[in-house]
Amino acid sequence: QIEINRPIIIIGSGYGAAVAALRLCEAGKKVVILEMGINWKESGIPYSGLLKPGRSAAWLKRKTIAPFMNIFPLKPFTGALDKFNFKNIDVWVGRGVGGGSIVNGGMAVVPKESYFKEVFPKLDAEKFYNFYFPLVNKELKVNGIEEQFVKDCPYYKFTRVGEAEAHKAGFKTVRVPNVYDFKYMEREYKKEVPRSALNTEVIYGNNHGKNSLDKTYLAKALATGNLEILDLHCVDMITGNEDKSYCLKVRQIDTSGKTVADKTFRCDKLVLGAGTMGTLKLLLSAQDKNNFPLDNTVGKNWGNNGNFMTGRNWVRPLSGGTGALQSTIPVGGVDNWEDSEHSFFTEIAPLPMGVDVATALYLMINRVDKKGSVTYDKVQNRLVLDWNESHTVRMKANADYFVRKMNRANGGTRSHLLFKNGFGANICYHPLGGCVLGESTNVYGKLKEHDNLYVIDGSLIPGTIGVNPFMTITAIAEYCIENLIAQGEFE
Ligand code: FAD
Repeated sequence: QIEINRPIIIIGSGYGAAVAALRLCEAGKKVVILEMGINWKESGIPYSGLLKPGRSAAWLKRKTIAPFMNIFPLKPFTGALDKFNFKNIDVWVGRGVGGGSIVNGGMAVVPKESYFKEVFPKLDAEKFYNFYFPLVNKELKVNGIEEQFVKDCPYYKFTRVGEAEAHKAGFKTVRVPNVYDFKYMEREYKKEVPRSALNTEVIYGNNHGKNSLDKTYLAKALATGNLEILDLHCVDMITGNEDKSYCLKVRQIDTSGKTVADKTFRCDKLVLGAGTMGTLKLLLSAQDKNNFPLDNTVGKNWGNNGNFMTGRNWVRPLSGGTGALQSTIPVGGVDNWEDSEHSFFTEIAPLPMGVDVATALYLMINRVDKKGSVTYDKVQNRLVLDWNESHTVRMKANADYFVRKMNRANGGTRSHLLFKNGFGANICYHPLGGCVLGESTNVYGKLKEHDNLYVIDGSLIPGTIGVNPFMTITAIAEYCIENLIAQGEFE
């Protein structure tokens, strides 16, 4: 048993954690990040593409786990993508230094101000839209694709077809910004630099082009000299000490998942940035096993951000379909949010299978009319999610409406190839909530019933934000940590 004492520990290295690390380090604080995944950048291990899954493809699994692609055998390795299997829904998350930023599609979307106000009525929306969102835009290196490139590049045929069909069906489309460097993409298209987005790289990591957190917030935090990142360090249990400090039971593992050292860390201040599911598991298991005090709202108000996948087959197969070559970075979306009867946003998603499957894939984001809740099962040491068909009734009706209208205008069928009955209600990339800002925590993320514990990640958002969530998670993190530091919480 190795015992290590540190003043401030952050668990996880995704958006919330990376923001907290940078601002604390800039304020002159020494910070340690404990991250269960690997430090990909330092390891030098390349990410694998979708069509040749390798070490980064899955977290300690014998088979790939990406949706529609779970057919390839794997040797278990601490890969970048992991999946929680619940009864009625699967939740995908990123593992590694950079958290979800390693595996996500990089879509950097600011929510509609009216919806942000609806979700967070107590926050100063003006300050978010004038200050935090622009700040986050800059720090995350958000940029937009050139329209001419979308028009000319064969890898964006799926977007052009998707947009033309949406317009024909009477829908409005929007261009979506991203953290992928589109200038890099133009150069990779010209074969001046190694290909990444144009080489099926995304959900198992991008080797080039994507500005994941290891290149932005975390790089800046490391440059202060105040941050230490310990990768392959899995926090299994939190215990509160009498002096209001915390002890963490940590397993250091190797890349096969084998424990190489058991460690105990002690810290005065603890920040949880383990992502919605990671943070809920740490909190709820500590409550169950250690009588860890928690407000009774923890675990409630969970949502899938209205994630609902759907697709269409035989999309213009005779005129070349959606294309055999597809960039992995989505740049188009259908915005039907203002339609009160069928309020949704949908990403026109790539499906880079290497052949033209004449299939269009859509990741819809809907309102969440009925929230779910998360509890802990101590016998199986796993989370249990109360979530079933009744939570996705409106989402399914929206998907049905969208696909019918698209098919009526353009031809095509419901995608039975991708989904049973054409609907993917069980696919969630955006778990949110369970430790909601101002409910389970104070207005700045300080956990109720605790003096020295702060939650800064997706669990603060009450289950829905109407668009892809990392811009909002990052902005909320900036707001929380700025105020926590100003209040002297880390003195
Ligand atoms: P995370 O980014 O989830 O980071 C949590 C970190 O904590 C992880 O690295 C994890 O390994 C670590 N951790 C967890 N438990 C422990 C523990 N016990 N000990 C040590 N470490 C631990 N959002 C968008 O806005 N745009 C997109 O285009 C987009 N595409 C996505 C595509 C996919 C395939 C997925 C899975 C997600 C996508 N998302 C997207 C969602 C986005 O990535 C997440 O919302 C975001 O990463 C959540 O940030 P977070 O700060 O809550 O934590």
